[in-house]
Amino acid sequence: MLQGKTALVTGSTSGIGLGIAKALAKQGANIVLNGFGDAEGPKAEIAALGVKVAYHGADMSKASEIEAMMKFAADTFGRVDILVNNAGIQHVAKIEDFPVERWDAIIAINLSSAFHATRLALPAMKAANWGRIINVASIHGLVGSAEKSAYVAAKHGVVGLTKVTALENATTGVTCNAICPGWVLTPLVQKQVDAKAVAMGLSNEEAKKVLLQEKEPSMQFTTPEELGELAVFFCSAAGNNVRGVAWNMDGGWTAQ
Ligand code: NAD
Repeated sequence: MLQGKTALVTGSTSGIGLGIAKALAKQGANIVLNGFGDAEGPKAEIAALGVKVAYHGADMSKASEIEAMMKFAADTFGRVDILVNNAGIQHVAKIEDFPVERWDAIIAINLSSAFHATRLALPAMKAANWGRIINVASIHGLVGSAEKSAYVAAKHGVVGLTKVTALENATTGVTCNAICPGWVLTPLVQKQVDAKAVAMGLSNEEAKKVLLQEKEPSMQFTTPEELGELAVFFCSAAGNNVRGVAWNMDGGWTAQ
């Protein structure tokens, strides 16, 4: 379905980003990976799906590096047809204890990076009259949780940015939508499981149950594979007129 298209997925060396990159690659899209840590493993996993893959290690907190990454993608594959703004970090602390440097980093990586990549991707998408921008927000783009001020503020911002991007391009072939996952068992969430296990004297399995019980009626983690399939839907012809939605995959979290 996506043969000949190029997808750039930020923060795709791990977790949800890698899951979405694989799902798009399975549909034939060439992939530009980004993120920290080992890139060779993820590159090999994508290449094994029979598409072309490239990697750029831009730090998504820096506009100049995002500019270099977008130029690299265009130079390598001609143009970015699908942009998945996924890179993100978390920090958990009460507002009065929240390190200012963590606030700035979360706003830069979780919110401003999506603005920068979007502004740089749009001209080529509009010229081709086809494009998909998928913002990985969070259920925290729709509701709050204590001790996550920066994350919740950034993710609400991402949902807002999604709506404006969709509206400004509503008469074109460029759509923009957000995905709002509940708990997904990636390294980002495993850190929160570990903190709970230590704080409450629980095993890893018990701490996972406590985490789910607090928020997710399904008592199940959403998987990167499921989120990848939602991204594929947004890229399909059936997604042509899906514009500006914030689509939750949250085990009933926000139905309560
Ligand atoms: P993860 O820690 O597994 O992956 C994060 C990715 O972002 C990694 O590839 C990492 O290298 C990259 N990254 C971090 N800082 C970066 C930077 N400055 N520049 C470039 N890349 C950077 O986490 P994840 O759970 O897969 O999270 C992916 C996205 O999904 C995030 O935006 C997160 O907020 C969102 N999300 C996660 C959950 C969850 O439960 N895990 C739920 C809702 C939303």
